[in-house]
Amino acid sequence: MDNKKASRNKFFKRIKKSNPKNLDTVIHQLHDEAFKKIDCLDCANCCKTTGPLWTKRDRQRVSKHLGYEVLDFEKSYLKIDEDGDYVLQQLPCPFLIEDNKCGIYAVRPSACADYPHTNRPKQKQILQLTELNSNICPAVESIVERMEIIYSKHSKRGLRI
Ligand code: SF4
Ligand code: SF4
Repeated sequence: MDNKKASRNKFFKRIKKSNPKNLDTVIHQLHDEAFKKIDCLDCANCCKTTGPLWTKRDRQRVSKHLGYEVLDFEKSYLKIDEDGDYVLQQLPCPFLIEDNKCGIYAVRPSACADYPHTNRPKQKQILQLTELNSNICPAVESIVERMEIIYSKHSKRGLRI
């Protein structure tokens, strides 16, 4: 683990332990600020480097949209990983089209629609995921950099509330 990753890991452990009451409010506000500045169409890093998990409903919805039988769709695009989850056979995602757009945007998997999850409730429960996503998503990186300042050891603000 490099220095930045190690110190970030320490930061996340501290936040998990201290459990600041304002965590959701802070992260949601930082999420809104980050996505005012970052345009996913300039990035698509999540679609290029980490595919979503495909739920049964995702597989049914997308195969119907593309005119496939569900089994044929699964055979063509998905595989089952070591945890038993349906994931893409290949990355970048085959549904990523020109200009970083999603070719199945209206019916995309729920994990894609929810990514990077920094606007959902109960952020404490997904701190590990947020730490991981800070290596993938520039918006999450920016959120976490701001969290590190807000919840710095010397800040009485974040940890006392
Ligand atoms: S990695 Fe983050 S900023 Fe980039 S496209 Fe995905 S959600 Fe948007
Ligand atoms: S389905 Fe669309 S949003 Fe999801 S990874 Fe593929 S291109 Fe990206």
